Amino acid sequence: MNHNSMLDPATIRQQFPLFSHYPRLAYLDNAATTQKPKSVIDAITNFYEKGNANIHRGVYELAVRATHQYEGVRGKVAALINAPKPETIVYTAGTTAGINLVAQSFLEPNLQAGDEVVISFMEHHANLIPWQMACKEKGAKLRVIPMSKDGVLDMKAYKEMLSPRTRMLALVHVSNTLGTVNPIEEMIALAHRRDIPVLVDGAQSIAHFPIDVQALDVDFFAFSGHKMFGPTGVGILYGKEEHLAAMPPWQFGGDMIRDVAFEETTFAEAPQRFEAGTTPIAGVIGLGAAVGFLQALDNNEIQQHLKKLGRAAREKLARIDGLRIIGNAENSTATVSFVLEGVHPHDVATFLAEDQVAVRAGHHCTQPIMDFFEIAGTTRASFSIYNEMWEVEQLAESLENIRRFFLA
Ligand code: PMP
Repeated sequence: MNHNSMLDPATIRQQFPLFSHYPRLAYLDNAATTQKPKSVIDAITNFYEKGNANIHRGVYELAVRATHQYEGVRGKVAALINAPKPETIVYTAGTTAGINLVAQSFLEPNLQAGDEVVISFMEHHANLIPWQMACKEKGAKLRVIPMSKDGVLDMKAYKEMLSPRTRMLALVHVSNTLGTVNPIEEMIALAHRRDIPVLVDGAQSIAHFPIDVQALDVDFFAFSGHKMFGPTGVGILYGKEEHLAAMPPWQFGGDMIRDVAFEETTFAEAPQRFEAGTTPIAGVIGLGAAVGFLQALDNNEIQQHLKKLGRAAREKLARIDGLRIIGNAENSTATVSFVLEGVHPHDVATFLAEDQVAVRAGHHCTQPIMDFFEIAGTTRASFSIYNEMWEVEQLAESLENIRRFFLA
């Protein structure tokens, strides 16, 4: 880790080739996906140009090297999140796949009618529907932790919700819509007092905060490569060793077996047991480079920079007449959702795009949040480490112009 220099977004930006093609673009859609540094792009290109082979099966040099590179990334990811062993790292297709795996392989086989699963009001659909489906299948009940109008979870209601019937807590670390940072440490500890296992959806936190799965004592932690400067199509599920060892396979096919006959099949140990078929090998290798990229940065500096951007964006936007920020948690990250009175969120995004500001509009895969605030959608600006103050200003100025245009 480099402690010698302050985080300089302009220097970081130079590592991202996309910005050399779009120098004036304020890319503020990082909650959807981040841009990729050259090191990640090079790792993928080099693999296809100089190292491509399928893994685990070949004995020739290319195949051995590809396997070595691919398996080596497990250790790198383990180090990033302080997982105890590389074997606790399962390669998935992304956060969504990791959560579905836990819902179907860990929870569902032991779920019974009358049991309860607790989620929060601010879950992404990816951390809502898999649990809802498992509950429907087994006659169990989905309980939802309520939140305030500021977008903060009601801890009293949460504590009261936990019961001997609770089988699982599934919780988002950082809300992709509200920017709220949930007190997961405290919430995990409360669940564990009742021996309730916890999955944390880390899709939005992995690129913003240092994650220590052992300090958190979290049972499962899921995230996506593409939101942490890595490629799409690959993600990580961390699981405690004893859980993974007890979980049945999720998908069946090549590379996840020990022995196969027509009468009977035995399966490989975790994590291979959960990685059926040819996985995104180049993606995993690219993800390894993204881990290296993140680890070369100073975590405190990342947080200070994002805090500065988030605070400035919230302050500037709050000054715009008729603009309402959706989600005002004290502890929030650099993601700001808002509605502009009298203008559809999609129109806001379209006008912003004309001023070279890339944001997202809609329900952000969190429809219950929209229902709660009685709105159709929001426009969302989400920042990353390569964003600079001029982008906050470009966003605010453009919004002022939109407001004037619509009021005129
Ligand atoms: N959870 C959260 C909080 C997210 O922001 C996202 C992506 N928007 C997901 C889950 C799903 O991630 P993916 O689409 O990469 O599987």
